[in-house]
Amino acid sequence: MEEKYDFKSIEEKWRRRWDEAGLYASHEEPGREKKYILVMFPYPSGPAHIGHVANYNLGDVLARYLRRRGVNVLHPMGWDGFGLPAENAAIRSGVHPAEYTHDNIALLKEGLQRLGYAYDWDRELATNAPDYYRWTQWLFLRFYEKGLAYKAEARANWCPSCRTVLANEQVINGHCERCETLVIQKALSQWFFRITAYAERLLADMDKLSGWPEGVLTMQRNWIGRSEGCEVVFRVGETGEEMPIFTTRPDTLWGVTFFLLAPEHPLADELTRGTPYEKDLEAFRERLRGVSDIERTAMETEKDGIFTGAYAVNPVNGEKVPIWTANFVLVEYGTGAVMAVPAHDQRDFEFARKYGLPIRVVIQPPGEELDPDMMPEAYIDPGTMVNSAQFDGTDSDMGKLEVIPDYLEGQGWGKRTVNYRLRDWLISRQRYWGVPIPIVYCEKCGTQPIPDADLPVLLPEDVQFIFEGPSPLERSQDFRDTVCPACGGSAVRETDTMDTFVDSSWYYIRYASPREDSRPFDAEAVRYWLPVDQYIGGIEHAIMHLLYSRFFTKVLHDLGLVDFDEPFTNLLCQGMVVMGGAKMSKSKGNIITPDQFFDLYGADTLRLFILFLGPPEADKEWSESGIDGAYRFLNRVWRLVDRYLSILTFKTQPVPQDSEVLRRLSYLTHATIRKVTSDIERFAFNTAIAAIMEFTNGLYKAIEEAPDTFNTYEGHEAIRSLILLLAPFAPFICEELWEEAGGEFSVHAQPWPEYDDELARAERVTLVVQINGKVRERIEVDADISREEMENVARGSDRISALLQGKEIVKIIVVPGKLVNIVVR
Ligand SMILES: [Zn+2]
Ligand SMILES: [Zn+2]
Repeated sequence: MEEKYDFKSIEEKWRRRWDEAGLYASHEEPGREKKYILVMFPYPSGPAHIGHVANYNLGDVLARYLRRRGVNVLHPMGWDGFGLPAENAAIRSGVHPAEYTHDNIALLKEGLQRLGYAYDWDRELATNAPDYYRWTQWLFLRFYEKGLAYKAEARANWCPSCRTVLANEQVINGHCERCETLVIQKALSQWFFRITAYAERLLADMDKLSGWPEGVLTMQRNWIGRSEGCEVVFRVGETGEEMPIFTTRPDTLWGVTFFLLAPEHPLADELTRGTPYEKDLEAFRERLRGVSDIERTAMETEKDGIFTGAYAVNPVNGEKVPIWTANFVLVEYGTGAVMAVPAHDQRDFEFARKYGLPIRVVIQPPGEELDPDMMPEAYIDPGTMVNSAQFDGTDSDMGKLEVIPDYLEGQGWGKRTVNYRLRDWLISRQRYWGVPIPIVYCEKCGTQPIPDADLPVLLPEDVQFIFEGPSPLERSQDFRDTVCPACGGSAVRETDTMDTFVDSSWYYIRYASPREDSRPFDAEAVRYWLPVDQYIGGIEHAIMHLLYSRFFTKVLHDLGLVDFDEPFTNLLCQGMVVMGGAKMSKSKGNIITPDQFFDLYGADTLRLFILFLGPPEADKEWSESGIDGAYRFLNRVWRLVDRYLSILTFKTQPVPQDSEVLRRLSYLTHATIRKVTSDIERFAFNTAIAAIMEFTNGLYKAIEEAPDTFNTYEGHEAIRSLILLLAPFAPFICEELWEEAGGEFSVHAQPWPEYDDELARAERVTLVVQINGKVRERIEVDADISREEMENVARGSDRISALLQGKEIVKIIVVPGKLVNIVVR
């Protein structure tokens, strides 16, 4: 055996051997227990970085552990290949996006392979490959047939820098998620997926997701934003035209003192046309141009608006109230009109105060009398209805939920209804590097889907990437001009491509049969592997990717293509690796790549070090100072096995020796197996590693105390267990040590070590507790209990704490493993 831990040659040797042996290939074995372990696939934008290592470590340890528990594991890897950076790079440097993506995949893959991840590389896929996106298009057509994909004119979030439309989910605080440019609103004809048709099910089925973090479910619930309330019909005073509004507070209808329309509402044009207010409206809209919806509706944004000169009639009391337009009312939300109740809604309150509009209290809090002139803010809590005609004195909650909705329905002025915050998913992107939408427009036949047999609609390769003007697809005449599949006449293709979140909404299903070429996936393979048992990924995907994937799965379920309706049974959201508290990112230039550590320390050290930084869910501060410690630890393991090998005679039967050292050794081994096993089961990989480190220290101590006792069954078992337990964390060094110790290839195919409950139990002793020297209690405790724990156990006993009542403790004397004497006054 080599004296020195030569990680370079070890890692290279085993990478090759594992590859040749096909160690991580996975196959369906009906009847055998399976687990599908998946970490969200990466967008290939360059070499691997520390964030990748932190994420992919987690799936790898879990997959390796489960395999060794005899489970049939699927653990694939692929690439989310489409996206803007590739196209922006093409504009900057002239490299074709396909080439840019291909090169970056190669770089990233090399990094992941050097880290030794146990992927079934035969299942590798890339969403930008025609044999994948052909099926994305096929699925789009199924959505289209079901009326779940449609085109509509809409105001959309537009990033002037990326020069494309963005989904609401891609706008962060009014800025583009990718480039942080201020997003503006632009009216365009766009393709949508009708996710709102699934709002109720997406909400209700969260009950099935007990394996998901509560935080993610809450975020999805808020995003869907279901609210129950009433639609109430107001009318234009002058014309009697209907203006329905949605409200969750019908109990405040008598407190309406003005009415608000979205500035973009067609009715606002109608009401002001040819009046002195027409110019105000125009100027107001100009002010709002370039302000995103998110910014407009933020609570802290200053309220802004103009009077239209018209009045609305409140159905419940016949009152005429002025109609204004306001920045915080959006035309796409609800009906684009709202009743304003300034006394009981904070935004309306701020608006009323700013423009001197009346405030009328219609809900009085218990035991208080609100004065509208003195109110510092709106009163939004329940109370008693007042100034509300025959409903005065009604409890406002009763009024809100039953009395007023019944009354409105009885009078024919409104009805109960449910409203959602969720909008349909805008999937059109005016960019090149995405999946072409398989639709043509024929002058005679209108919108026509491409027949399945003609898929894929390939991206043209011969295009120019320039910053100005329309997208490359729109400029490519070869691509655009085509024939109508219905009449054979000339037609033009849709030139929008799909949001890349469409690609990632079904990739986890494709892994079950990635080479299937007659349909998107093989039903049998999908039935065996899916749903994903453990999904792992960042919390930043809580809404977009995870919600879209749930939606896709439900649609595929309804189409009869899959037999499950939730894609991910369990979800783990890992924290980020941060630097000085900030996220590592390319734009900040603080990306750390593993490359620099491969040569200095090796992949095993890097894996171990990053896993040891903290629990998976927590954000972890990056510091290189600990990596030496991880390296030293692996060297200690190396030397320990080396030393052991020199005295080894491989006695494999237990030796009946009544030796304290051997008992201690057995306890150490079995207690460590128990601890590491239960830690891995709950993803506490950092404490599992700590336990293995302590185990190693214990073995050093034992071998120093009595070197010959090591050459026993117990000694052999201890060393074997050390290698077997450490293997999922540091796969290369353990494979080498296993081979040196005469183990059969591969350590990663060995059964997970079992522990014996009896042996794992610490020795118990009787702890004597005295008060002022008198024995008051005897308690059984672990022999290796610490001084601090002894004190706690003693004081925690019912009998002792009763005796200590009203006494002052002067001091506590502890005799380790034997006695606690509490001196009191
Ligand atoms: Zn942008
Ligand atoms: Zn036609």
